[in-house]
Amino acid sequence: MFISEKYLRHQQIHWLSQEELFKSKVLIVGVGAIGNELLKNLALLGVGYICIVDFDVIQIHNLTRSVLFTNEDINQKKVEVAKEKIKKINPDICVESYFGDIYDLPYSFFKKFDCIFSTVDNYETRIRLHQLSFFNQIDFFNSGIDSQFVSIDFYPYSKNRLLCFECNLDPKIYHNIQKRYSCGWIQKYAYEQKKIPTTILTASLSASILTSVFVHKKRYEEPFRIFIDTISWNFTNLQFLKNSNCYFCSQWQNYKEISKDELYNKIKELREDTTIFCNEPILISTQCLRCGFFYEYWQLSRNFTEKDLNCKECHFDKIKILVKDSFSLGETLRLKSLQWKFLYYFDQKENSMVLVPND
Ligand SMILES: [Zn+2]
Ligand SMILES: [Zn+2]
Repeated sequence: MFISEKYLRHQQIHWLSQEELFKSKVLIVGVGAIGNELLKNLALLGVGYICIVDFDVIQIHNLTRSVLFTNEDINQKKVEVAKEKIKKINPDICVESYFGDIYDLPYSFFKKFDCIFSTVDNYETRIRLHQLSFFNQIDFFNSGIDSQFVSIDFYPYSKNRLLCFECNLDPKIYHNIQKRYSCGWIQKYAYEQKKIPTTILTASLSASILTSVFVHKKRYEEPFRIFIDTISWNFTNLQFLKNSNCYFCSQWQNYKEISKDELYNKIKELREDTTIFCNEPILISTQCLRCGFFYEYWQLSRNFTEKDLNCKECHFDKIKILVKDSFSLGETLRLKSLQWKFLYYFDQKENSMVLVPND
């Protein structure tokens, strides 16, 4: 393989393989403070294929912690600006971008990556990304910062799935997600969260550690967390313990995968009391609290904002929303044409979990 003169210094480092970096395919979700730094690092190293996903536009307060964004970029899409800047920083690599939410991308989109980096600021997206990484056996990196602390997790799912990102999650996180969920989980609730103030100090440190773990990832057999207090400089390298009651991996240690067609062909053969779960909420119906008008949707919740759901009859904005993510077999038939990412259920006859990706 031809390696240009530009990378000769890299070639002198015994633990760095430029060829492997060129061959790497990484996904970065979130082009905020950490995403900017990480993208810059991976591009300079010569990571061959980088895909970035974000649904945000650049705002003035981003400019204190985003190396790729400047004044004239305000109100532009983060992914578009970042992609153009990165192409200038390193024209040797391929950068692709997607403006939108990861929920909009098909299940098969994720298969091509060797690594998924979560550089977002909310737990719903972290959990979804970890689940997609787990099922597809892709190494998963998660980062979290505030103005003082840096936390980096690495899960080598390509090597083993003995324990997972959710094994050590605070139950409060599920509780908070559930709270939004019960409000309908329509867009307003998914996106409006309290923003934690951060600075370039913790963002750049976090991205440096992510990059370093990424470069050395072959060495690590087990998941771990690096936690740093950037004021006292207390540093913790935490090995995780498996949580045998983990909400996610305790069910998913053994499972089989079937296609959507297979599911719908054999749905009548499943035990009648089987519950089928969807990986995201479905908006079932609304009922007006003034005139009582009832309307059935059976659509993905994420396709709706609050104002789409005003009463269709009298336009009143106070309505009862029914959202579900678990279904009877009969109800599952109504989900067939929707763009959910995966369904899953416990097959009682075969005593195993079944995953049904929507490819
Ligand atoms: Zn787990
Ligand atoms: Zn009404």
